[in-house]
Amino acid sequence: MKITNLNPDTDIGASAWCVDLEGHRILLDAGMHPKLEGRDGLPLFKSIQPQDVDAIAITHCHHDHVGALPVACKYFPKAHVLMTDLSYFIAERVLHNSVNVMTRQREELGIREYPLYTHDEVDDITPHFQGFKYNREIAWAAFAKTRAGFTSPTLEFFDAGHTLGSAGAMLRGSKETIFYTGDVCFHDQTILAATAPSPPASPARRKSSGLSRTSSACSNARAACSSRRSRSGARRKSSPCSRCSCAKAS
Ligand SMILES: [Zn+2]
Ligand SMILES: [Zn+2]
Repeated sequence: MKITNLNPDTDIGASAWCVDLEGHRILLDAGMHPKLEGRDGLPLFKSIQPQDVDAIAITHCHHDHVGALPVACKYFPKAHVLMTDLSYFIAERVLHNSVNVMTRQREELGIREYPLYTHDEVDDITPHFQGFKYNREIAWAAFAKTRAGFTSPTLEFFDAGHTLGSAGAMLRGSKETIFYTGDVCFHDQTILAATAPSPPASPARRKSSGLSRTSSACSNARAACSSRRSRSGARRKSSPCSRCSCAKAS
């Protein structure tokens, strides 16, 4: 097994790792460096032979892991793109937003290279995305290689607890195995619980627009707070919430 770090920086930056495994090659993440501008922020894709990458696996949809995906797909046109099913619903939106940000930076900061990819290019690559559930082994070798009788290595996504859809990736060959963590989080996060629907509340009308608004800040918080549970499913200890009268998970 050979692992090549394509990050142009020695610190947190453009996450991208090329793994050669038993005659197959996969790229793990295709991120953009958050502090470097223009093409300097891209992973060192040019150090890899373009035709040789069979698959690209994305661990999660933060910019430093997915931001250079359209550029990677251009460099490695044969690669199919694997991600979790939750990331599948987010990735396209994140990339279109990146085009908007880069277009604005081109105008505001005068970075002439931006945008590094266009909305049309994002639309062109999204049919190659495949979303998979956690804890399922996926054979990722190029179709030509499996047709020729080579045994495919597999990849399995494990929940990383970092953000919606985030994963670590287990790569298994017939002789060697590697686990790539991506970003991980080991404490419970409550941000997802805030999507719980609020109980009905009296609407307060805005005279200027005629739009109806509920006093949603506290009613939402109450719904979210009352539904918070730890990952193990056990109810957490409650304490008064500082923003409203509901109980807050501690
Ligand atoms: Zn992250
Ligand atoms: Zn990161």
